[in-house]
Amino acid sequence: MRQVIIVGSGPAGYTAAIYAARANLHPLLIASSVEFGGELMKTTEVENFPGFPEGVMGPDLMMKMQEQAERFGTEIVYDDVTKLELEGDVKRVTVGNGDVHEALTVIYATGSAYRKLGLEDETRLSGYGVSWCATCDGAFFKQKKVAVIGGGDSALEEATFLTRFADRVYLVHRRDSLRASAAMQDRAKADPKIEFVWNSEVAHIYGDEKVAGIGLVNTEDGTETTLDVTGMFVAIGSDPRTHLVHGQLDITTLGTIAVEGRSSKTNLPGVFAAGDVIDPTYKQAATAAGSGVVAALDAEHYLAAHADKTVTPQPVAASV
Ligand SMILES: Cc1cc2nc3c(=O)[nH]c(=O)nc-3n(C[C@H](O)[C@H](O)[C@H](O)COP(=O)(O)OP(=O)(O)OC[C@H]3O[C@@H](n4cnc5c(N)ncnc54)[C@H](O)[C@@H]3O)c2cc1C
Repeated sequence: MRQVIIVGSGPAGYTAAIYAARANLHPLLIASSVEFGGELMKTTEVENFPGFPEGVMGPDLMMKMQEQAERFGTEIVYDDVTKLELEGDVKRVTVGNGDVHEALTVIYATGSAYRKLGLEDETRLSGYGVSWCATCDGAFFKQKKVAVIGGGDSALEEATFLTRFADRVYLVHRRDSLRASAAMQDRAKADPKIEFVWNSEVAHIYGDEKVAGIGLVNTEDGTETTLDVTGMFVAIGSDPRTHLVHGQLDITTLGTIAVEGRSSKTNLPGVFAAGDVIDPTYKQAATAAGSGVVAALDAEHYLAAHADKTVTPQPVAASV
């Protein structure tokens, strides 16, 4: 039996692993079978993670986090968690190949999936002009034209933020009115750099290596137009990856896992959550990493308080 199992290999999971490993808790981290490394594997340059003044490529940053976690003794399983049994003192974690791992604590750090438009070129050009995060990528679009897709508060927030850099920001929305709050709407509508493109959906993303424009189709009359932009920010929401814990962990009205105050404590003793899966607001690599620290320390304190149940680590493949 393990002391700590960490589910997820993004900044939250790896940072929790670094702390737990350095505390001699011999963590087992389940990284996912194909999407290990988390959301930053889908991007190119990351300029806002502390410690990299020249910037760092997203996948390189995640490899460094992985190396750092392994250096202190984290064991990694490249498989998906398919089932979690979190009640009681011993938590059971089943992975895709059928192995069942047991632990006294679980840190759940599965992130949040940004909703996509569903276009083939969206994935191909992710990090090359297609983005889901203005805070992360806005500075790459100084004096350029960009489009923001969406009609809620987050779309308007992204659009307003992008006017700090871009010369023109098109707000593309498939309806003729916005879901966003009145205050956000007033601010965006008063901004001379923001132009609203109503009743329009993205049908094409042009560009071989970088975004070179987007093709829109009018939802009312089917007419097609092109926007001459080099950046497209998709702001249609995100879905915290919580399906494995439904019915076990409390979920907030925003779909994130509920935690106690500034801690990582969920409603179940010994179960902690970290990163974007608990965060409806900030959703940054550095905040996820900080959240991983909190979870590891919370797990460490929990284990110390339940020292009578502390166990010697067992080999990774503990099949039953
Ligand atoms: C394109 C893009 C660019 C970005 N650029 C920046 C940037 O420049 N700067 C910045 O600060 N932030 C950036 N972000 C945001 C940042 O990536 C996230 O805030 C951060 O990765 C969240 O970390 P996390 O560990 O909570 O979750 P994630 O990074 O999402 O990692 C979650 C991990 O859990 C794994 N997982 C999920 N379900 C299971 C399961 N059942 N079994 C096993 N594993 C599972 C996933 O595969 C993934 O590896 C960007 C996001 C995107 C999409």
